[in-house]
Amino acid sequence: MTKPILIVGGGPAGLAAAHSLGTVGQSSILVEKEDKLGGAPILSGYAKLVPTGEWARDAIGGMVRRVEGDSNVQVITGARVAKFDGTPGSFTAELSNGDSLDVEAAILCSGFTHFDSVNKPEWGFGTFEDVVTTTQVEQMISSGNGVRCPSDGRAPKRVAILLCVGSRDRQIGREWCSKICCTVSSNLAMEIREELPDCHVYIYYMDIRTFGLYETKYYWRSQEEFKVKYIKARIAEVTSDGEKLIVKGEDTLVKRPITIPFDMVVHAIGMDPNVDNPDIAATFGIDLEEHGFVSSANKYGAMGATSRAGVYVAGAATGPETIDDSIAQGHAAAMAVLSGLHQPVEKSA
Ligand SMILES: Cc1cc2nc3c(=O)[nH]c(=O)nc-3n(C[C@H](O)[C@H](O)[C@H](O)COP(=O)(O)OP(=O)(O)OC[C@H]3O[C@@H](n4cnc5c(N)ncnc54)[C@H](O)[C@@H]3O)c2cc1C
Ligand code: SF4
Repeated sequence: MTKPILIVGGGPAGLAAAHSLGTVGQSSILVEKEDKLGGAPILSGYAKLVPTGEWARDAIGGMVRRVEGDSNVQVITGARVAKFDGTPGSFTAELSNGDSLDVEAAILCSGFTHFDSVNKPEWGFGTFEDVVTTTQVEQMISSGNGVRCPSDGRAPKRVAILLCVGSRDRQIGREWCSKICCTVSSNLAMEIREELPDCHVYIYYMDIRTFGLYETKYYWRSQEEFKVKYIKARIAEVTSDGEKLIVKGEDTLVKRPITIPFDMVVHAIGMDPNVDNPDIAATFGIDLEEHGFVSSANKYGAMGATSRAGVYVAGAATGPETIDDSIAQGHAAAMAVLSGLHQPVEKSA
């Protein structure tokens, strides 16, 4: 191959794809719309990652530095692809900054958008200052300032974490499990207990999906070692009595209404399709699946294939994914590009 590969998005998936290509001497051009690389873990200031416990700034920051130091990778930040024409082996991409790139193929690593909790108004976000999201708690921890109530800076004595906010919720059109938020929430609960041993942390859940090997390390450990309490419940609303936040709902195990005061309520927000996906689909001439994520055309035969030959996809652009799976998909898509595995797409009936 002589022309570079276009990679859209500099999160874990895009960084992995660029690194993979670079290791075999294949040049790539990584186009990122924000002013720095790293994707959600860096841009949203995640703290310690699941499942390694490494700080995001070290783990993903290391991936950023590796790509930035790779002479095979040209990084363009603050830009998007405005136009994309051609055929496999001979595409032209026009960028929003006026650049025009001749590329062999493209890998879309454009990720997801965090669910905006204002779309779940009955759970108090946007109304009460001390109703926050998991990303805000991640930022409190990663900034070194500790977990504090935004309204007055006090250390909370009672924290409720509400799971499945913006996921598994037909009423707001989100019929998917975001995969990682149960585990992330168990992890955050332990971090809160570690920092504030007097703080009681409750997790309100429909089901717990600390999938695979995460069950022992997060679900059981958080209860047995850190005394985090799990309550199976349907939450109706989050209100305030003027002093405390009040979580109201039904304990679905004992089938009794619950009304419980808290200092802080945390929404475990889910992973929405990237808000840019309609534009990305139109620009690249690819299909989205029914929920709005990028459609994978061939799950088994050609890793990362989309509905357009020569355009590949990896990571959370395809649906909720963990970081390690996004990285694996980035490597796999790079391999698919290199080996020319892409087959003409046969759409299933
Ligand atoms: C609160 C929370 C905590 C999480 N914690 C963990 C954890 O501890 N461990 C774990 O495994 N997973 C975690 N995840 C999941 C993790 O965020 C994703 O797995 C990961 O970010 C996916 O990487 P990605 O590269 O596919 O996408 P992203 O991280 O979303 O990166 C996509 C990149 O593409 C860029 N981009 C988007 N659109 C365009 C465009 N049109 N043009 C150019 N660039 C564009 C974005 O700016 C971004 O830099 C968490 C998720 C949430 C919601
Ligand atoms: S991972 Fe857990 S919190 Fe996240 S959507 Fe799935 S069940 Fe809900």
